[in-house]
Amino acid sequence: MTTEILVSEVGPRDGLQSVDRVMPLEAKKAWIAAEAAAGVREIEVGSFVPPRLLPQMADTAELVRFASGIDGLNVAVLVPNLRGAEDAIRAGARKLSIPFSMSETHSLKNVRKDHPAMIQEIRSISALVASGTGERPHFEVGLATAFGCTIEGPVEEDRVVRLAEAALEAGAAEVGLSDTTGYANPAQVKRLVRRLKAALGEGKLNTLHLHNTRGLGLANALAGLEEGITTLDASLGGLGGCPFAPGASGNIVTEDLVFMLEAMGIRTGIDLDKLLEVRSIIAEALPGEPLYGFTPDAGLPLGFERIAA
Ligand code: ZN
Repeated sequence: MTTEILVSEVGPRDGLQSVDRVMPLEAKKAWIAAEAAAGVREIEVGSFVPPRLLPQMADTAELVRFASGIDGLNVAVLVPNLRGAEDAIRAGARKLSIPFSMSETHSLKNVRKDHPAMIQEIRSISALVASGTGERPHFEVGLATAFGCTIEGPVEEDRVVRLAEAALEAGAAEVGLSDTTGYANPAQVKRLVRRLKAALGEGKLNTLHLHNTRGLGLANALAGLEEGITTLDASLGGLGGCPFAPGASGNIVTEDLVFMLEAMGIRTGIDLDKLLEVRSIIAEALPGEPLYGFTPDAGLPLGFERIAA
């Protein structure tokens, strides 16, 4: 197992897009700056979707510019299509992720595109990314609903492998695996990560994006680590929750994930004490919004050894 893991904070995007209220821009900036100061090296700051669809994400360009000024921080954004990718590149984002739903029904419902149309979109964005000068942003395709879909149910693993290959062939730098629906279990994670890594080759699958809908988030993260996953998405305070699973956090909770990794001797570069303090920024900006996490409630164990960053 690798001894260094990138924890990618997705709360300002995945968390906030699931909260109806709009977090003020200044609070978002304070959150991003505080997490970076705690040692978080990658943050997905928002999504380039039309503001009429997601008013919570209307200030993404401003956040990209702000976060780009923070030393050592990799600024990531979600882009739903070519238009979003153009906006993201103009704003200066370093990493672009497009969600590509493995369930075609989900894809049609979400972005009104079937699989061939999505591959075409990925091809266009890849061409756009490659066409500029200077250091180019990293373009990743998130294989959404890869572990099951709320409309179609089970998703065939053969299909995920085939579509992942097609996404790379269309020019994406890498693919990530997303348990959009919180359906995954650890055996399934191991099997699919292993199959994809074998099919795609070295360095083409590094990231797992997990939701804790059924409480298996950390178990799934560990299963991924054991198969060579090196980047784990997580959300501070598990922000966003899940409307279908009251009491369950949205994404896996960053604080609990960092605790698990550091307790296992896996380096994240994140100062847990500082990370725990960042929660107060969200609590103040969104009063009453549920914040999840066991480590924040229980505190660090007596004698917990912090790994020097
Ligand atoms: Zn998600």
